Amino acid sequence: MSDVSANLESVEQKIAVACHRANRARDSVELLAVSKLQPAATIHAAYRLGQRDFGENYAQELRDKATQLADLTGIRWHAIGPLQLNKAKYIAKIAYAFHALDRVELAEELSKRRVGPRLRCYLELNLGGESSKSGITKSELDAVLLRISKLPNLEVVGLMCLPPLGKDPESSRPFFRSLREAAKEYGLSELSMGTTYDFEVAIEEGATIVRVGSAIFGERPSQATSQGA
Ligand SMILES: *Cc1c(COP(=O)(O)O)cnc(C)c1O
Repeated sequence: MSDVSANLESVEQKIAVACHRANRARDSVELLAVSKLQPAATIHAAYRLGQRDFGENYAQELRDKATQLADLTGIRWHAIGPLQLNKAKYIAKIAYAFHALDRVELAEELSKRRVGPRLRCYLELNLGGESSKSGITKSELDAVLLRISKLPNLEVVGLMCLPPLGKDPESSRPFFRSLREAAKEYGLSELSMGTTYDFEVAIEEGATIVRVGSAIFGERPSQATSQGA
């Protein structure tokens, strides 16, 4: 197992440096530890080190881990992966936030099933025009926001993107910038952007939450040994 403590410290350091470079306060960026496919014990270790926000891709895995780790007070589960309609109920019941909202139908289901305070949602934008990726296009944003904003149990707090993999982290910058501009246009304050690969660039471009997995937990165990989506 990799050294979660040293890794967290190193990521923290890089976040601090990026914030400084961008003239931002350290507390203007949250670190979301992406724990998909990592065992509960690993999450527990990060929790003991003070980490509270964890990101999971698969609905059932999130549900099972939340159950296993129910005694960790103040832990916050973020669902960050594509979500099937029939699994929305798990996220609606447990998650603190959902980062991959990509269609009205899913928003309606989440709102209908939500238990507790309004679910914080990030609308996922597909900025690279990749047909293989989820997310709505910029031109759909207006209409989608209008419909989702009427739902009682959701709150659209911001936008999210996962840029196409470029030749280096700098390749992500135009996408991050574009996300920031779109959020500004619609008065949305939160930007979920940046992974292990490019979180420092994301912070420079205004990310309010970065989703970092492998830099904290090391390489992920293969999905075959875990339970799929
Ligand atoms: C897995 C994942 C991450 C984290 O990726 P790392 O490269 O491990 O930092 C971030 N965002 C999404 C949507 C992911 O699926």
